[in-house]
Amino acid sequence: MSDCLFCKMVTGEIKADVVYENDNVLAFRDINPQAPVHVLIVPKKHIRTINDLQETDASLVGEMYLAAKEIASQSEISEQGYRAVMNCNAGAGQTVFHIHMHLLGGRAMLWPPG
Ligand code: AMP
Ligand code: ZN
Repeated sequence: MSDCLFCKMVTGEIKADVVYENDNVLAFRDINPQAPVHVLIVPKKHIRTINDLQETDASLVGEMYLAAKEIASQSEISEQGYRAVMNCNAGAGQTVFHIHMHLLGGRAMLWPPG
């Protein structure tokens, strides 16, 4: 997707503060952090929303969670706790239409979120 911000981060056209990468997933710090640790985990494949996931994307979504686990460990928030969340569509706060998991930690998390 030539006009997608996160695709441009995957290709390197736009610079990201990368904290984790493998063949299928890229993770970088959120530009407007909402917690001491706020990392976005994105699949390298362009997928617009959770609603657009296919059966064949199941392992890719699993890799996003495994990346979250690894980054949480690197960030030393595994035991304290963290949130791993994806917003779907504008009503839930999605503003970038390339799926991404927010990994938030380093402070107490409130429930329910706003
Ligand atoms: P969402 O609102 O769930 O779609 O999340 C999009 C996130 O992308 C927000 O938390 C933004 O702060 C973040 N974001 C937007 N532009 C950039 C950027 N250039 N680099 C890193 N994070 C960004
Ligand atoms: Zn994209």
